[in-house]
Amino acid sequence: MPKVNYGKMLDDRLAELEASGEKPTLLLHACCAPCSSHTLEFLHSHFRITLYFCNPNIAPEEEFDFRLSELKRLVREMGLDIEVIEEEYDPKPFFELAKGLEELPERGERCQRCIELRLRMAAAKAKELGCELFTTTLTISPHKDCQFINECGARIADESGVDYLFSDFKKHEGYKRSIELSRQYGLYRQNYCGCVYSKANSQKDRSENG
Ligand code: SF4
Repeated sequence: MPKVNYGKMLDDRLAELEASGEKPTLLLHACCAPCSSHTLEFLHSHFRITLYFCNPNIAPEEEFDFRLSELKRLVREMGLDIEVIEEEYDPKPFFELAKGLEELPERGERCQRCIELRLRMAAAKAKELGCELFTTTLTISPHKDCQFINECGARIADESGVDYLFSDFKKHEGYKRSIELSRQYGLYRQNYCGCVYSKANSQKDRSENG
């Protein structure tokens, strides 16, 4: 299947909005502050954004709390008038979906289910709040499957009736910019994706590589 240029799709959408002068409401699912930094800088003049921290995959709870507090600090220090809403810490649905898939490497089926869970929750929250669109910061990560994320978002949009904003936030040096902004704001950059399995893998890699 030919690769879709999701970065261009986003550029085209932003150009349309600019031409029309519209500024729709967007529920932006946020995985962490570093991934949100460039994404917010890139999107905030085009949308009325609500940030949604919904990550039942993250462990332990202290890590969840710290990533959330860094996200809130970032929004404050960037001077953005954006509300951050959060789902309470409840890892049960994540452990349910990960059953039998604990040993899989990143980008495998466990990750696909993990991403789908968070996108579903984001679409449901967007619907509840009456937001016109939803999307996720996750496409900024070079470790994530951008095509899967966007296809999954489109499927959930069809089912939920809430429009999905296609994206590839890596474009326009987005990932590099997120590193610069993380440095500028002194953000905590975690060394594992989020779940206990990714944490164990990261520890193993570091001990193997000294
Ligand atoms: S590695 Fe990341 S995306 Fe994959 S299951 Fe764990 S937290 Fe979710």
